[in-house]
Amino acid sequence: MQLTQEETSHSIQGIDLAELTEQFGSPLYVYDADVIRRKVTALQHAFSSVDMKMKYACKANTNLSILRLMRSIGVELDVVSPGELEIGMLAGYEAGQITFTPSGVPFYEVQEAVEKGAIVNVDSLPLLEWFGQTFGNTKPCLIRIKPNVAAGGNIKIMTAHADSKFGISVLLLDQILEVVKKYKIRVIGLHQHTGSDIKDAAPFLQVADILLDTARHFPDLEVIDLGGGFKVSYKPGDEITDMKLLGNKISERFQAFCKEYGRDLQLWFEPGKFLVSESGYLLVKTTVVKEDPARNFVHVDSGLNHLIRPMMYGAYHHILNISNPAGALKTYNVVGYICETDTFASDRELPEVRQGDVLAFLNAGAYGFTMSSNYNARQRPAEVMIDNGEAKLIRRRETMEDLLRTQLD
Ligand SMILES: *Cc1c(COP(=O)(O)O)cnc(C)c1O
Repeated sequence: MQLTQEETSHSIQGIDLAELTEQFGSPLYVYDADVIRRKVTALQHAFSSVDMKMKYACKANTNLSILRLMRSIGVELDVVSPGELEIGMLAGYEAGQITFTPSGVPFYEVQEAVEKGAIVNVDSLPLLEWFGQTFGNTKPCLIRIKPNVAAGGNIKIMTAHADSKFGISVLLLDQILEVVKKYKIRVIGLHQHTGSDIKDAAPFLQVADILLDTARHFPDLEVIDLGGGFKVSYKPGDEITDMKLLGNKISERFQAFCKEYGRDLQLWFEPGKFLVSESGYLLVKTTVVKEDPARNFVHVDSGLNHLIRPMMYGAYHHILNISNPAGALKTYNVVGYICETDTFASDRELPEVRQGDVLAFLNAGAYGFTMSSNYNARQRPAEVMIDNGEAKLIRRRETMEDLLRTQLD
């Protein structure tokens, strides 16, 4: 990670981050629209030699303003639930631009999504059988293949290894083909999603090989969908996926396949984190600094109820002390206010933190707000998007009323 000049100066598009917390309160999620545009362009450039389509995996961030931005720059959607499908359509997407990639959901959810016009990614043999019985050859589908390849940042975010619950094992190809034949199912695409935080091109190529080998058995394909999972930069010096190299290698392999297949297919990706992680910041305020004999603790007005990635799978979020950037470096554990182990960062060197200082967690654009909760009866933060040099509130802060709305006497 290279801190941008803006991050070093603690501003986004000329807007001072600390002032945002004064205007909109703390804690606060802030997104930089320009970063999202840049990431989309980078991926387009990397795959400019093939017919590539991006299907933003919107579980990373479902704010309507983010989805509308994606739509305005030609990015389509991948959803994992009926709720996400509905939000996508509210953002202006046509159902046909949305892929529904469920994981063992009730079949009525698939039925509703297909009837709305979304394209489903079938993820089990029983669902494939049901799909054939229900729709025969009247609706197209993709099949999610599990290639049995282990890759990703850590085991909790791997999705394609043999032990993973996702998709239909490539070893069951004969059974897949049998069901497809029995109902004349229109399989227009094969899909796989390997996992998250995958840095090297090698695993992507390995699964692409497996998927393309499998694809030879399906005559009606229009799409090969290689999922998401590109690694982004989390800390200074971090290595990330070399998109240009990956783009060249996969495009070459894909073009060779299309030639052999006899037709030009579309190549789909479903990036989540890659498109939005670096656009986002969670701004929090220091409530207490505890100089304990064992350790220095920085307590902030947030916790795993707002950003659970560090606690859930050990994710690293770089932290800036934007109120005292020139302070002498000290080592801290940065912790939240939730009554539960609630550590954002251990042994983290930061410019001296004082009560009231505003800290910024970087890489908070993906799996931040969407994974937040009301644990400890806490309200979730507001969200702000910065675009064209202006800060706009795109979700108001929750109130106590919001929390009580569903409770009955
Ligand atoms: C979560 C998910 C993605 C996105 O993963 P990232 O690591 O955020 O890129 C893509 N495809 C599917 C099916 C997913 O479930």
